[in-house]
Amino acid sequence: MPGEELVGWGRTAPTAAYLVAAPDLTTQRDAVQLAGERGVLARGLGRGYGDCAQNAGGTVIDGPASSGLLDLDLAGATIRVRAGTSLDDLMRWLVPLGLFVPVTPGTRSVTVGGAIAADIHGKNHHVKGSWGNHVTSFRLIDGRGEVHDVSPEGDPELFWATTGGMGLTGVISDATVRMQPIGSSRLLVDTDRTGDLDEVMALMVDGDDDYDYSVAWIDLLARGRHTGRSILDRGRFATRDEALAGGAEDPLHYAPHQLLSPPDVFPPALLNPLTLRAFNELWYRKAPSKRRDHLMSIEAFFHPLDMIADWNRIYGRRGFLQWQFVVPDAATEVVRATVERLSASGVSSFLAVLKRFGPGNDGHLSFPTSGWTLALDMPVMEGLDRLLDELDDLVVAAGGRVYLAKDSRVRPELLPAMYPRLDEWREVRARVDPDGRFRSDMGRRLGLV
Ligand SMILES: Cc1cc2nc3c(=O)[nH]c(=O)nc-3n(C[C@H](O)[C@H](O)[C@H](O)COP(=O)(O)OP(=O)(O)OC[C@H]3O[C@@H](n4cnc5c(N)ncnc54)[C@H](O)[C@@H]3O)c2cc1C
Repeated sequence: MPGEELVGWGRTAPTAAYLVAAPDLTTQRDAVQLAGERGVLARGLGRGYGDCAQNAGGTVIDGPASSGLLDLDLAGATIRVRAGTSLDDLMRWLVPLGLFVPVTPGTRSVTVGGAIAADIHGKNHHVKGSWGNHVTSFRLIDGRGEVHDVSPEGDPELFWATTGGMGLTGVISDATVRMQPIGSSRLLVDTDRTGDLDEVMALMVDGDDDYDYSVAWIDLLARGRHTGRSILDRGRFATRDEALAGGAEDPLHYAPHQLLSPPDVFPPALLNPLTLRAFNELWYRKAPSKRRDHLMSIEAFFHPLDMIADWNRIYGRRGFLQWQFVVPDAATEVVRATVERLSASGVSSFLAVLKRFGPGNDGHLSFPTSGWTLALDMPVMEGLDRLLDELDDLVVAAGGRVYLAKDSRVRPELLPAMYPRLDEWREVRARVDPDGRFRSDMGRRLGLV
């Protein structure tokens, strides 16, 4: 087997591939054209949870080897950037200039290429949609090594097949993205602690339109009448004056840092239902029951997990998975049933996040569609697959889907129901990659390619 062992954030299914550093368009084209019969795939920072950025026995192009800002139009709030650039770098460069990324996931350690390929969403999907909605064009290397300038107006099919296409339509080399002007690097945040799931869902339905960002952390280990008790955080960026009035000396100051990193071999036995229940209890109790207009930094509000480097290692050698689904607004019963089933099952999850999505975009395989999305981390354990298979069936029956960027286990036969435009996507892929050069472990596992 060739060189480098690669794995997703959940560390469940490592495979080896030839990892190629290709810092520019020419070397990226070479890597595509020289790839052997196991094909080629672009990889970002490996924050996809499963096997989406792996290509066993084939070539993998190392995204972060190609990083940097190519053009900045400050007045027009637009950037052109190499696809391997991380959102972390973008924020460090641009927040002090009054620009923020239009959409940020729960970690800033993702690349622009990974953001397009997974069409990532954030806490503001109900207002701003997903990452692809803010991309005006990108350069894509296809399966023959030809370079396309792709925009939603010029080649909508290729643009939207690539946005959410999980790297299987080509290598994105650079992209032009509209950023969001901000007056400060602080957010004004309202927090509500709720006693159960019904209460948090009602608050979100009633009030989310009043906020740019909204997210609820659910205590998945609470049972009985407390099932689904949550901490709901909602907010918006503070203006310059509001930040100054709140005591910020430099309203656009931004210098996040990592605090600590877990020990190399963290005993997974520490992550048992007992310790996690104690942790969740503490977390829930320490949140204010109701707080208004609290000034928070970007890193505290959006990326608290980034404070701990490599926190994925705390789950030990067996790794963990994240299960994230979306169901339409009317399917509140599915959200309730999954929370109840998982709470009752004794699964040790301390990260369970509920958000609301607005309408989806034209991405053939883009994940977000209007409704409720629930994401939870779980250590790999006996019986989990069977439980999640049953819950997948509930999601599909309600017209929902799971998120490919998080997936490591869904049954391939469910994909056409979850992603009804799959065949259309395959047609676009066949146009730009007739010999099927772009391959991934996920693509093979799910029969996408
Ligand atoms: C702690 C944590 C929190 C997260 N929170 C969220 C969230 O709130 N919302 C959300 O949407 N996601 C979230 N994610 C998932 C993450 O945003 C996506 O998986 C994202 O795609 C990871 O980007 P990456 O650069 O690490 O890409 P990788 O994981 O390396 O790759 C992801 C996919 O992108 C493709 N790809 C990467 N670069 C290119 C390129 N240049 N050209 C073509 N294809 C490419 C790969 O082939 C692969 O299919 C989270 C992940 C973590 C670990």
